[in-house]
Amino acid sequence: MTISSNTRIAVVTGASSGIGEATARTLAKQGFHVVVGARRLDRLEKIAKEIEGTALELDITDQDSVDAFTAVLPRVDVLVNNAGGAKGLAQIIDADLDDWQWMWDTNVLGTLRVTKALLPKLIESGDGLIVTVTSIAAVSIYDNGSGYTAAKHAQAALHRTLRGELLGKPVRFTEVLPGAVETEFSLVRFDGDQERAEKVYEGITPLVAMDIAEVIGFAASRPSHVNLDQILVRPRDQADATRFHRTT
Ligand code: NAP
Repeated sequence: MTISSNTRIAVVTGASSGIGEATARTLAKQGFHVVVGARRLDRLEKIAKEIEGTALELDITDQDSVDAFTAVLPRVDVLVNNAGGAKGLAQIIDADLDDWQWMWDTNVLGTLRVTKALLPKLIESGDGLIVTVTSIAAVSIYDNGSGYTAAKHAQAALHRTLRGELLGKPVRFTEVLPGAVETEFSLVRFDGDQERAEKVYEGITPLVAMDIAEVIGFAASRPSHVNLDQILVRPRDQADATRFHRTT
């Protein structure tokens, strides 16, 4: 990567769609050189070209991939731990171990891998920021959702622990907890079943990815003594994880 040494770099994981893509666009507008990471390189390259950033293939569940990704970054000022998602909806009695494994590998261990690798560079920047996109599933549970709620609780515990462990170091920690955002999230959760995915947002006005990206951009543009610890954002039509006002 060849960029001037005084350009601030923001790394966004899971930037090939949804919240990550919108966040990359927002941070680029704020003047960051944005490094976008995910598995679908073709999408990343298109986005990176549009925002004059850098596209790098990244699978956060694979240590070698994370090592290769982090090794080429000359500096890191902002890390957005966004890559993640859900698989399936099932009662614990019917839990699919593969789905649980995917959710833990991606949301929890993936966040750990990337964060651990980039912390030295974030500290070295003298004014680092880590934003972790957890979920309202990190503060509440719901029937059939335990694989995801358990993983998001764990991801949040990791992020919140760092806030204390790095107290006194020049790094801020912001946790963003979205409610329903219409992205590819439900399509992934329901294994590509478009009809089932669309039902999640039927009769409500959900958030869009840019609603969350703007919140992340706001956190990233506060003066360095201001730490926005937790920001929970839901659509007006959603009161908690399973309570919606639907017009249909
Ligand atoms: P999305 O459109 O499905 O985006 C998920 C992103 O994660 C994609 O860019 C995907 O890219 C990436 N990803 C998945 N596995 C990965 C891996 N192993 N390595 C690297 N990247 C990986 O969904 P989204 O709604 O924007 O989700 C972003 C975050 O918000 C997730 O952490 C999700 O849990 C959280 N969230 C979403 C909602 C919602 O309602 N949408 C609500 C609360 C929280 P590739 O497939 O190209 O790798």
